[in-house]
This record gives sequence, C-alpha cells and structure tokens, in this order.
Amino acid sequence: MSTAPFAQSPTKLCSACGTVTQTVKSFCPECGTTYGEPGGGRLASFVWGAFACAAVSLLFFPIVLGPLAIVLSALAMKRKESHATLAMSLSVAGMVLGFILGAMAASG
Ligand SMILES: [Zn+2]
Repeated sequence: MSTAPFAQSPTKLCSACGTVTQTVKSFCPECGTTYGEPGGGRLASFVWGAFACAAVSLLFFPIVLGPLAIVLSALAMKRKESHATLAMSLSVAGMVLGFILGAMAASG
C-alpha cells in the first residue's frame, strides 16, 4: 500500500470542460481555460483594488479614481472574481457621488 501522493498535490477542476488535473499551472491543459480559485487572495486583487479606489473616489479625485475603479471592476468581472459585479456598482456609485460631493464642496 502506497501513501497518497495526491494529498499533497491539489487537483483542479476545470469549470469549462470538467477535466480534473494535478497541475501547478493556472490554466486547464485540456482547453486552456484559466482556473478560478475560490478564496485565493491573488485572484481577488482586482476586486479589492476596485473597492479601494471606489471608496477613496468618494472623497478624493473621483475624476481619476472613479474610472480607475471601473476599469479594475471590469478586469475583475473578466476574470470572474467574486463580488466583481458589486465592485462595478460601487465604482460607478462612488464616482457619481464623488462628483456630486465635489460639486457641492466647490459651490460652497
Ligand atoms: Zn478545461
């Protein structure tokens, strides 16, 4: 009886073609689809960047950070990150609110 080597090398399930592989690559060797890794910190970077930019754009530089947050959200949605749609909504809302708050502050 051999020890279970697969316990140390995680398998990956391709959501596109259903192939289960043991690979260190970030994409499916069968069809080339990029793996989604739930809970992976690296994968959620675009979402968190969008959240951060959206939050800051409420108070500072909405003309710069608003579009940046939207771009980050679009990248997150493209990569099918979790909460990407929410990030997009908050990015748009943050930019609009930032403009409104900025206009109010400018007009006194
Ligand atoms: Zn595949």
